[in-house]
Amino acid sequence: MLILDGKALASKLKEQILIDAQAVEKKINRKPGLGVILVGENPASKVYVASKTKAALACGIEVFDRFLNAESTQEELQLAISDFNNNPLVDGILLQLPLPKHLNELTALSSIDPGKDADGLHPVNQGMLLRGAPSFVLPYFVPCTPAGSMALLNEAVEKLNFQIAGKKALVLGRSILVGKPLALLLLEKGATVTIAHSKTKNIEEECRAADILVAAIGQPEFVKGNWVKPGAIVIDVGINRLIDKRLVGDVDYMEVSKVASAITPVPGGVGPMTITMLLKNTVLSASRKGLNTVGWVNT
Ligand code: NAP
Repeated sequence: MLILDGKALASKLKEQILIDAQAVEKKINRKPGLGVILVGENPASKVYVASKTKAALACGIEVFDRFLNAESTQEELQLAISDFNNNPLVDGILLQLPLPKHLNELTALSSIDPGKDADGLHPVNQGMLLRGAPSFVLPYFVPCTPAGSMALLNEAVEKLNFQIAGKKALVLGRSILVGKPLALLLLEKGATVTIAHSKTKNIEEECRAADILVAAIGQPEFVKGNWVKPGAIVIDVGINRLIDKRLVGDVDYMEVSKVASAITPVPGGVGPMTITMLLKNTVLSASRKGLNTVGWVNT
């Protein structure tokens, strides 16, 4: 059984991101820049922003941050976004989610310059992901958690000599952040994709049919060992904090690791890859400076 070690893959990729960032810096005479916007005091969001900032600095990326208080108006948020859109030193923009309830997330995400949308959540980038092949219409940026999950799946493809095309993939969860874009990326690779969610009947049967099982539902240890097809590849996106403070995924790791051919652990699987993809997208954006990026292929 192969453990898909996201921490190890992320640190390998970050070495390359640093090299790429330094090469871009030589070309554009400044470091690639990431603009981070955090609204409010959500403790988890603060931790995420701190670790993204630390990782960015270690990869040769300059970080510009804007912390807005929890009572900020939509106009104040829009202004912070437009400042980063217009700032030539900022190549990638991260708007940390979730926003306080009174703010409109779609309005905010839609006002980010799609060419600086390092999180890949602008409707233009999401629409281009839906459009799929041919490659000239691929998005400027693929969303980070789905991209990180696909990179880990790719490890399994290489190490197990596995073919995605023609296989059955089940994605548990249909969020715009994870489930839907991941399903599209799997579809693009030629998998036959099913998306399951809270209204899905016979979810266990759906799981058992899958050669590739991705869990992104936010339900601790939901997927049990006897739901998984022997030899399936399992990507666990879930991050759940139990009352005893343990961090677990959406998959029962102890049970499922006995059945799967490859599995991502939690923590140390998809989580570190998400941050890495944000950095990769930021450096990619900086590397496009001065180029006509219309229809640019995202690699
Ligand atoms: P979300 O927006 O809350 O979406 C959850 C999805 O799961 C929804 O589509 C929901 O169905 C479905 N669902 C919930 N309970 C279910 C059940 N009992 N059976 C079947 N489907 C169910 O969550 P998200 O943002 O996609 O995140 C999902 C998980 O991934 C969370 O644990 C989150 O912490 C984690 N996450 C991890 C990373 C990372 O870097 N590793 C990044 C982002 C998110 P309906 O649509 O029908 O309600």
